[in-house]
Amino acid sequence: MSEGTERDRIGFIGLGIMGRPMAKNLLKAGYPLVVWNRSRPGIEALVEAGAAEAGSPRAVAQRSDVVITILGDSADTEQVALGERGIIEGAHEGLVHIDMSTISPAVTRAIAARYVEAGVELLDAPVSGGEQGAIEGTLVIMAGGKREAFERCRPLLEALGRTLVYCGPTGAGQIVKLCNQVVVALNNLAMGEALVLAAKAGVDPATMVEAVRSGAGASWALHNLAPRILSGDFRPGFKVAHQQKDLRLALELANQRSTPLPGTALVHQLFAALEAEGLGEEGTQALVKALEKLANTSVSDGP
Ligand code: NAP
Repeated sequence: MSEGTERDRIGFIGLGIMGRPMAKNLLKAGYPLVVWNRSRPGIEALVEAGAAEAGSPRAVAQRSDVVITILGDSADTEQVALGERGIIEGAHEGLVHIDMSTISPAVTRAIAARYVEAGVELLDAPVSGGEQGAIEGTLVIMAGGKREAFERCRPLLEALGRTLVYCGPTGAGQIVKLCNQVVVALNNLAMGEALVLAAKAGVDPATMVEAVRSGAGASWALHNLAPRILSGDFRPGFKVAHQQKDLRLALELANQRSTPLPGTALVHQLFAALEAEGLGEEGTQALVKALEKLANTSVSDGP
């Protein structure tokens, strides 16, 4: 395995909300980039920005020293890594695959085990910071796998994120990310409850947000999601469907370890109510809609 340098050829697979700006940041940092995406729009956006295009994950792997994926759920990463024309078919000694999707720690370990014979190192390196963090290159990156592989990839990860945390062996990055999602979901619920309470009690929710987000109740949600709610913007930075996937993974892990997560289970059920209404593709700030229904009020209309 060579030392990580700016000459590493990077392959990038999964050019969605997160992947597109992340891939562009690698181009901006001077890395040669070859990309593949399931559908055309993602590919076209990156080719226009200066990336080369490959015909499959296998072809991306053949042409890369490091392949990055940021897809949807566990099955998507499994398919791209191990499926027909997958990364494993284009594997070569020393190839590193960095999976930045949020998926199951157990599936992550299973993929890493399959990679051993092919000589591929897997790093799980899920991220936090949302679409804005991806655009600005300020993501938090939580990595699991061999420490040497992580250190080798540090320079390119620094083009994507501001805070890089090595969490432990394969799967540890995913476990930390699921802990992150527990906090994110409960902060979202806390924000929604505060908004509804302010509205019902006759205080302008925007005034409440201005005060609370500067004190002990401050959260990423209050800074980033509350303004969207107040302006009626429910477009996704992070989709309800993906949040539900993450909460399912967190609850599965908790069950395996006999760990009650009552708050997480509650938010999972409230999001299920949104999904039942067909709102799975909205942003997670839509959680407030479930609370508005329960309280028979509307937050964005004010008191
Ligand atoms: P997204 O916009 O839905 O993008 C998903 C990408 O994966 C798309 O490029 C999609 O291809 C591709 N894909 C999905 N399934 C595939 C399959 N079976 N085979 C090949 N390609 C497949 O999602 P996102 O918001 O970027 O999130 C991606 C991952 O990052 C998820 O695991 C999510 O939980 C995590 N994440 C998201 C955020 C956020 O704020 N959005 C923050 C942190 C972490 P198409 O373009 O063809 O659909």
